[in-house]
Amino acid sequence: MTGLSPPEISGGCRAAPVLKQRGQREVFCGLTGIIWLHRKMQDAFFLVVGSRTCAHLLQSAAGVMIFAEPRFGTAILEESDLAGLNDAHAELDREVETLLARRPDIRQLFLVGSCPSEVIKLDLNRAAERLTQLYAPKVRVLEYSGSGIETTFTEGEDACLAAMVPVLPKTEERNLVAVGALPDVVEDQMLALLDGLGIENVQVLPARTIDADVAVGPNTLFALVQPFLAETHAALIRRGAHQISAPFPLGEEGTTAWLAAIAEAFDVPRDRFETVTEAPRRRARNAVAQAAAKLKGKSIFCFPDSQLEIPLARFLTRECGMTAVEVGSPYIHDAIHGPELDLLPAGPQISEGQDVDLQLDRCRAAQPDLTVCGLGLANPLEAEGLSTKWAIELVFTPVHFYEQAGDLASLFARPLRRKSLLGVAAE
Ligand code: SF4
Repeated sequence: MTGLSPPEISGGCRAAPVLKQRGQREVFCGLTGIIWLHRKMQDAFFLVVGSRTCAHLLQSAAGVMIFAEPRFGTAILEESDLAGLNDAHAELDREVETLLARRPDIRQLFLVGSCPSEVIKLDLNRAAERLTQLYAPKVRVLEYSGSGIETTFTEGEDACLAAMVPVLPKTEERNLVAVGALPDVVEDQMLALLDGLGIENVQVLPARTIDADVAVGPNTLFALVQPFLAETHAALIRRGAHQISAPFPLGEEGTTAWLAAIAEAFDVPRDRFETVTEAPRRRARNAVAQAAAKLKGKSIFCFPDSQLEIPLARFLTRECGMTAVEVGSPYIHDAIHGPELDLLPAGPQISEGQDVDLQLDRCRAAQPDLTVCGLGLANPLEAEGLSTKWAIELVFTPVHFYEQAGDLASLFARPLRRKSLLGVAAE
């Protein structure tokens, strides 16, 4: 496609100095990703090799889902299992045998590592290879780590997808792979838009089932839909695929820029692009404008948590009229976040990593109208009179692409509305 002008850039933050701090962190571990991945991948099972703490985290995070026949479980390693690592491997084999006998619907089994030192000593890679040989071709066994020592909560998805990339079939065909888990309804909207643009041979990773024909090779182009997929990005590049660099499909502008980058790569005629995107763009703009009335002129401070912070700050500043004070992200990768930083209006402190006490001091000094942070920080900050938004909610809620742009703005407007209602009630 030619002639589609990129969104107007007002300064940008790509070259801004980044404050890098390392200290105590306040984040969930990568096991959390299982909660949305198990819904997405209909023939997968996630077997966490961990402690009772891990089982507890999963059960409470999954809430009511545990009462359904879940697609995740925990192989709890007791002290006694660890007298010898061979015993632990035998125990794991027994757990897997029982599980697969009981659940013939499982086609992909993920062994998910966790924190206890006994688990770290266990070679899950070797276990996955051994079990794959044992159960092939009916079941594919892969492993990744969701350990809180190694991963923040969205890195669990990254580790899972990165584990899948090396075993994807090879192709020489030109195809597009959209990478990152989206709720089915949002994924269908994305596929309809790409279909409208006339782009053929589109696949998604993770696919809903192992039978989906996701393949990768030197003619594969991939576009990330989530900004926390650095390992998966690297794994795809190692397989010879090429990234379509773009902002993320959050908000009207992000969605249009994401689609435009793909349209450019696939030579979609400009008029076709305009025809396909014109109506949903208008709907998205109108929906955002309604919700953004409450956000305009307000300030926001983002603690590093979901890795969605930079695209969200771009959306909130450019489309909702907010001012960003600080935008923190656990990790910043130029290849992934660069196009977003280009669009983020100059001004905020960009920070990577966290020393939570120092960052809390900065937040208190700034007194932002809205603070995006993890659950652990939200309650104390609310008690101090600051309005907060839980970062984790943004990962569990459908927020991508045009039809969700208004909902995305509403998520941020809600705590402000609540605060003004409480203020009125208190008067
Ligand atoms: S932080 Fe470690 S021990 Fe705790 S639930 Fe997560 S993986 Fe398990």
